[in-house]
Amino acid sequence: MSTKKYPTPTTFTRETSAKMFEEAKNYFPGGVHSPVRAFRSVQGPPIFFEKGEGCHITDVDGQMFLDFCCSWGPLILGHCPPTVIERVQETVVNGMSFGTPTPHDLLIGKLVLENHRYFEMIRFVSSGTEAVMSAIRLARGVTKRNKILKFEGCYHGHVDSLMVKAGSGLVTFGISTSAGIPESFVKETIVVPLADPEALELALREHGHDLAAIIVEPVPANNGLLLQDRNFLQLLREKATEYGAMLIFDEVISGFRVGFEGAAGYYDIRPDIVTYGKIIGGGMPVGAYAASKEIMENVAPVGPVYQAGTLSANPVAMAAGFATLTELLKPGFYEALAEKTHWFTGIIQEHADRKGFNFSMPHIGSIFWPVFSREHIERADQIDPAGMEYFKKMHLECLKRGVYFGPSGYEVGFISSAHTQNDLEFAAGVVNDCLDIVMG
Ligand SMILES: *Cc1c(COP(=O)(O)O)cnc(C)c1O
Repeated sequence: MSTKKYPTPTTFTRETSAKMFEEAKNYFPGGVHSPVRAFRSVQGPPIFFEKGEGCHITDVDGQMFLDFCCSWGPLILGHCPPTVIERVQETVVNGMSFGTPTPHDLLIGKLVLENHRYFEMIRFVSSGTEAVMSAIRLARGVTKRNKILKFEGCYHGHVDSLMVKAGSGLVTFGISTSAGIPESFVKETIVVPLADPEALELALREHGHDLAAIIVEPVPANNGLLLQDRNFLQLLREKATEYGAMLIFDEVISGFRVGFEGAAGYYDIRPDIVTYGKIIGGGMPVGAYAASKEIMENVAPVGPVYQAGTLSANPVAMAAGFATLTELLKPGFYEALAEKTHWFTGIIQEHADRKGFNFSMPHIGSIFWPVFSREHIERADQIDPAGMEYFKKMHLECLKRGVYFGPSGYEVGFISSAHTQNDLEFAAGVVNDCLDIVMG
């Protein structure tokens, strides 16, 4: 571990970060390249980080933080795991990109497919959004249908036809959640609530035979953690088959996170197409989509569904992904991570219970969600926005004590294999103190 120190409420500063943010606002919209980074849902300017080591990150003011954001999920091994860094260094000196196949494609492709019971072919792209966009096109190409059914509270990247929320009424066409998306695109998307078989049935009765795909985050983790009952996911499998639509599991977060086979393996449900991102690139920009050989052979150059990428399967990114996934296959990796997460959330839950705080920590694998509620939340509309005010305060108090959570109460936290028992004990102590301040 570095010699850097955690801040305390008296030493904590954002002086350099604040200056950099002021400058950044001149160059970049909102000072950032992805909206949540602007810290608009929490207090103060964003913190600029410049170094990561295991589960620790150091900011431009020289303060150390325990990281529970882990770059929004990719860093399941923590920052700079030695085997990944070595592999990247070996690779990068041989050329950063060729725009041709390379041996690195084969290594990671084979590793993923040989260790997944459901998929036979995979195509690499450069982000989760691109993976989802391509999977949607593939589903439309295969089924020769246009409509997509998605769920309120699931995020699938900034794809036009999926930047859509439910309108009023149980089954509706979506309303676009961003300017710049033509009404006609949104008309192809039907939005229903999660965990609601009746709403699903209604939507299917009306649109089932026009559906190219039902797309879901099987572990919805972009709008809180809306853990679904396996029966509901199984119902999606059955209905997709019944109506001749493709079932797409968007596993950009859950893939390689809740197990090597992601949620498909965890719940033992076979989607038709899966999308990956985040962990599969080991911190580099990578996405992928995979399916059976029969479905994937609809993709160009074999089939009529066009999809391409100048930097797709970039060798350096493939090397980072390969080295990362190799670690995940070591026996006991996921069990240890899940156990740590269960233990960590347990300490905090016990404290909240003892104090009677309206707070809980739902979790699965190494994903957890700090939420100011004790209800079992499985749909987006069950989240009380009032809880976000508490989160805002807790975020700041935790920061001042060296614990970094993603800057929004709708974001989940991640634990990496680099988080030790000592680190987690420290963090649980901080979180408990902060809960006392915020709720006491
Ligand atoms: C992060 C995420 C995406 C988008 O991935 P990007 O790499 O940010 O484009 C899509 N779907 C899910 C489920 C995600 O978590």
